[in-house]
Amino acid sequence: MTLFRGTFLDTPDDPFTGGRLRTEQDGALLVRDGVIRARGSFADLHRQHPQEDIVDLSGGFVLPGFVDTHVHFPQVRVIGGLGMPLLDWLDRTALPEEARLADRAYAEGVATDFVRGLVGAGTTTALVFGSHFAPAVDTVFAEAARVGLRITSGLVVSDRLIREDLFTDPDRAREESLALAARWHGVGRARYAVTPRFSLSCTDDLLAACADVLQTVPGAMLTSHVNENIREIETVEALFGCDYVTSYDRHGLVGPGTVLAHNVHPTDPELALLAARGAAVAHCPSSNAALGSGLFPLARHRANGVRVAMGSDVGAGTGFSLLKEGLSAYVAQQLLGEAGHPLTPTHLLHLATRAGAEALGLGSAVGDFSVGRRFDAQWIKPAPSTPLDVGLTHATDPGDALAKMFALGTPADVHRVWIEGDPITAPDPHLVG
Ligand SMILES: [Zn+2]
Repeated sequence: MTLFRGTFLDTPDDPFTGGRLRTEQDGALLVRDGVIRARGSFADLHRQHPQEDIVDLSGGFVLPGFVDTHVHFPQVRVIGGLGMPLLDWLDRTALPEEARLADRAYAEGVATDFVRGLVGAGTTTALVFGSHFAPAVDTVFAEAARVGLRITSGLVVSDRLIREDLFTDPDRAREESLALAARWHGVGRARYAVTPRFSLSCTDDLLAACADVLQTVPGAMLTSHVNENIREIETVEALFGCDYVTSYDRHGLVGPGTVLAHNVHPTDPELALLAARGAAVAHCPSSNAALGSGLFPLARHRANGVRVAMGSDVGAGTGFSLLKEGLSAYVAQQLLGEAGHPLTPTHLLHLATRAGAEALGLGSAVGDFSVGRRFDAQWIKPAPSTPLDVGLTHATDPGDALAKMFALGTPADVHRVWIEGDPITAPDPHLVG
């Protein structure tokens, strides 16, 4: 067994319903086989387990690994395509790059860049939007398995209104998806996600094929996009003759295992339907700002009882760090004025960890440091004399320290990462250990 010593912060109880930041200062977690077996003060646990190895993480703060509920594997190399609304950005920036993943060797390089980007940002679990090409989807599953990253992903499918070299058809989509699920679903930490790109680019026949795959693969998830951009929404309504959520729901694609990204412009009936189905929304604030999509109506989601978690939406999002996404979420709610939902640092940590784990159906496994959870963790320890180091040194309490992490933290401050007790990253040589 291993005794991890440090200051641990987590949010086991939902701050939206009164939960508070949990703090263990000079605390310890006793970990065996990747699972937290006991927690408490270091003094107490060390007295009870004097023979166990100690990993000393004193200085800085240990947070649960982040859970990114919406991030696109093929887009890591095109982050930063600023200045365009959604449909233009897809045509000019994202989809030309996605077409390059037809080349498996190219896809392997992208998979390496992508997994490194996630882990380097302290993300240990992700719902990953895959590629339109099945061999490329194999490469991201393989790289995640090699590193140990906990991902849920799948084949992205479309059959209209985007570039034709990304098209599939219902039979091929069904066959390739089931073959990928057979290779990866439930293997190690991998799970399969049925992934229509968005209903704008999917005929009813293709969405029906998605429903077949969802019903055939027990425990598979469903992920897609919804209500991101006004022009997109008007096109979907013209194509289907119904609202955006219903375009999925009438194929049985909206349920407790569904995560839909964005939902910036929902109607009240759509929010009610999402809540009734138990589906979750991935809130991606830096993407919403960069594409000018709009400000996320978090208070309306809460009022309707819709589950919300956090997504980076790389590559429309501006980076992998859920610290930056948390800050962006806070800013968006501030800009909404009275219609905004005030967010504390505790809300931001919950959205980036516990809420994500629950949205992905992994709430019993990860998302906080309770006894029985896997030890998925990140050690935030900035280089000396950086603004974040100064801020943490002078923080008045752990909540204040957490606010400074969200305001100032970057992947450079993520000193080490563990998944199920195994260290995933080497210490950054630029930081003093
Ligand atoms: Zn997306």
